[in-house]
Amino acid sequence: MARLSRRTVLGAAAAFAAGTGAASAQTATASFGSAKLSILSDGSITLPGTFLARAAPRAEVEGLLTGAGLPTDVVTSSLNVPAVTRGDDVVMFDCGAGKNFLPGAGRLPDSISAAGIELEKVNHVLLTHAHPDHIWGALDDFDTPACPNATYHLAQTEWDFWMAPDVFSKLPEDRQAFAAGAQRVLKALEPQLKRFKSGDEVIPGVAAIDTAGHTPGHVSFEVRIGGEPFVIIGDAFTHPVVSFARPDWATVADQDGERAAASRRRLMDRLVADKLPFTAYHLPKGGIGRVEAAGNAFRYVPA
Ligand SMILES: [Zn+2]
Repeated sequence: MARLSRRTVLGAAAAFAAGTGAASAQTATASFGSAKLSILSDGSITLPGTFLARAAPRAEVEGLLTGAGLPTDVVTSSLNVPAVTRGDDVVMFDCGAGKNFLPGAGRLPDSISAAGIELEKVNHVLLTHAHPDHIWGALDDFDTPACPNATYHLAQTEWDFWMAPDVFSKLPEDRQAFAAGAQRVLKALEPQLKRFKSGDEVIPGVAAIDTAGHTPGHVSFEVRIGGEPFVIIGDAFTHPVVSFARPDWATVADQDGERAAASRRRLMDRLVADKLPFTAYHLPKGGIGRVEAAGNAFRYVPA
């Protein structure tokens, strides 16, 4: 399939979506020195309220939610895809969920188009982990990488876990589709994909921070592209109230709950100590903000 016809098809699809008013483009933007951060929406997904904490007393979870004026039965989780631009360089972080995961997701192509970003000009795509809501949107309708000229980057540990032939035996029944999806997408990305280690400078100005636990190779990224640092967080923090007030609670999605909680607390401690702003994939309204210490826990302060 020639690139031209593919571009034409995608362009027509985006134009249609823009015409219907469905695209929500950038839900938030911020400047960090010479770098611009745009949060591109892939939509949002709705999860059961029980998803937030897998072992905590239900009354305590509901108390926190009610206290914040939030519903207790369902959690609406944003899908925020960060794009960092500086001059002609475009770096994206994660890829959205695509159209086959859950209703409400899969809007990233429209948002990218509405934000005026050309997929051909994305130089790098850095992945926090290989869960469906972060990588199933990596391929276009032709099952080829949506950013044709980008190098994709994933932690070696994350690659090794999901690509292992025996991954299925390490996951519960309800996660088998996650593994099948990860293998399908990562195989298609492989010709354009590089692996890194936690702590590496993945591309100039962007270093991977080990935040494993949510998945075995889950990372966050410290970005210093524009001179003023900030941090891009996948699923180390997933809820604007519960993650911060009870960082030691594992969510249903945290594969290794204890390790995920330790990573969450360590990262929050560091963001407080270094006064680093951040953006997190699932927080509301684009998820750009800061974290403050609050007693033995933390508080999210949206920008
Ligand atoms: Zn996620």
